Amino acid sequence: MIIDGKVIAKRIRENIKAEIQENNYKPKLAILIAGNDSASKIYANAKVKACAGVGIDAEVFCFSDSEEGKFLNKLEELNVDENIHGIIVEMPLPKSFNAQRTYDLINPLKDVDCISTYNMGRLFAGNPLYLPCTPHAILTILKQLDINFTGKHAVIVGRSNILGKPVAKLMLDLDMTVTQCHSKTVDLQKYTKMADVLILAAGKKNLINGDMIKEGAILIDAGINEYDGKVYGDCDFQSAENRCLYITPVPGGVGPVTTSMVLLNTLEAYKNAIKNTYSKTSQ
Ligand code: NAP
Repeated sequence: MIIDGKVIAKRIRENIKAEIQENNYKPKLAILIAGNDSASKIYANAKVKACAGVGIDAEVFCFSDSEEGKFLNKLEELNVDENIHGIIVEMPLPKSFNAQRTYDLINPLKDVDCISTYNMGRLFAGNPLYLPCTPHAILTILKQLDINFTGKHAVIVGRSNILGKPVAKLMLDLDMTVTQCHSKTVDLQKYTKMADVLILAAGKKNLINGDMIKEGAILIDAGINEYDGKVYGDCDFQSAENRCLYITPVPGGVGPVTTSMVLLNTLEAYKNAIKNTYSKTSQ
């Protein structure tokens, strides 16, 4: 069965919109972009549009790759601005920027992408403030399948801080046995063929084909690879589809659910801000 990410995303957005309207919430997301990466601008605009659809205000701030100082000043300003509840720094940052230092400057309460060392630490310690958006999307997709994952084998291809590693942690939390593969893995197929749940997060078109997948596996493809104006995942969908019990398409699988998670985390950040203000004023 093909998992329709757009349907899952729509349901989540409807719930978010209803909660915002019913409570007259006023969440606001700030998105910072540096440099000329065209994909960053496309992703930022898509987030602004998605925010507008549920009643979240969003503002984009753009800087050139020689404006690290100005960028950091704006970030510090947004960190303490009571009208801003979530902050996203679009990746990649220019090579001239110190990326991890920048992520670590984001106020943890507003770090809705969960990219600061502090928030990643909390996630791995089992006490997350927010779940990072794409791993959260993958978890949400799996949970709506209503399958007991205890003792199943999850194989993750990719080990980045924003995707592969947190996905592995979330799969461990589902009591699965986890194998993490990467570019230095020898005989990738040996591992992918063992997977009950195969999660692809490598960013390599056609890395996986049907012969590399166990019959009846669940395949979640988070890869986004653009070729000739079209978007592909990491697996060859045609050869994989018939071997899988469930499979996510690209586009239309993990992507739309990820955008909904940005909205969900921004709403969560807004509620955290209200709680903090309330506890400060009631002290
Ligand atoms: P990344 O930082 O480039 O990491 C890619 C990972 O894949 C690395 O760990 C790398 O291994 C591994 N890898 C690369 N080639 C491989 C190979 N031939 N065999 C096995 N492993 C290999 O990328 P990312 O930021 O994690 O993103 C991964 C993909 O997800 C990209 O296509 C990205 O566009 C997509 N993505 C999708 C969403 C969404 O909403 N759907 C969100 C974020 C990202 P090493 O560590 O050894 O280099």
